[in-house]
Amino acid sequence: MIFSCPIDRSDVNEKLECEKGHKFGIIGGQIYDFLLKDVEVDKLLSRVIPIYESIWAPLGLLITSGKTYTSFLREIGEFIDGDLIIDVGTGTGKIFDFLNCKTCIGIDVSLRFLMYMKRKRTRVIAVRADANNLPLKSGIADGISSTLVLHMLSNPSFAIREMSRVLKSNGKCSIAVLANVNSIIGKTLSRWWKVNLRHYDYYINLLQENSLKVVERKELGPWEVINCIKIS
Ligand SMILES: [Zn+2]
Repeated sequence: MIFSCPIDRSDVNEKLECEKGHKFGIIGGQIYDFLLKDVEVDKLLSRVIPIYESIWAPLGLLITSGKTYTSFLREIGEFIDGDLIIDVGTGTGKIFDFLNCKTCIGIDVSLRFLMYMKRKRTRVIAVRADANNLPLKSGIADGISSTLVLHMLSNPSFAIREMSRVLKSNGKCSIAVLANVNSIIGKTLSRWWKVNLRHYDYYINLLQENSLKVVERKELGPWEVINCIKIS
C-alpha cells in the first residue's frame, strides 16, 4: 500500500481507513479521494479542461516561452525516471506520456481534471489530495514532478516539504514555476492570475532547505524549470 493518512500519517488499509479511524473514499471506483470535499478550483482553468492539453497549455507555453508543450514535458520526463513517479497538480496527467513509470501517481484537487485523466490515461493512479499534505508514505518515490502549479499555492513551502518527504534518497524532483521577476509576461501573468510572483531564489532556497539539491535551472521566458536530487 502506497497510501498513508494525510491527517496523522498512520497506515491506510485497502478500504482507505487509517489506523486511527479516518475514512477516505474511492470515487467511481477509480479516484482515490483523500480530500472528501469540493475545492474551489480556478473557474477559468475548470472551463478549459476539454482543451487544456490540446490547445490551452501548448498555446500558452509557446506564446510565453517560445517552447512547445511537448518538448517542455519531454525534457522533464528525461530528467525524472524510475519505477514509482508522482506528479503533483497533475491536471490532465499529460506528463505521464513522457514517463516510463511502473507505478504512476497523479495528484490533483480537481475532480474534473482527474476524471479527464482517468479516461485518457487509465494506467495512472488518480488521487484527489492537497499538495500541502500528500496521502502517501514517506520515501516511496523514485521521482516527483510538479509543473506550472506551485506558484499558484499561497505558501509553496508546505508542498515542497511534502515532495521531499515522499522521495527516496537520490530520488529526482523537477518543478516548473512562474518565477522570472524580470519578465514582463511573468508580471502580466501573475497579475492576471492574482498569484505572487516570487523570485526563483525563493524556490531554490525552499528546495535546498528540504534536502533537495539543485542540479539544474533553466529559464523559459517567465518560467523556471528547477531539477533537484534528494540528499539524505
Ligand atoms: Zn488518520
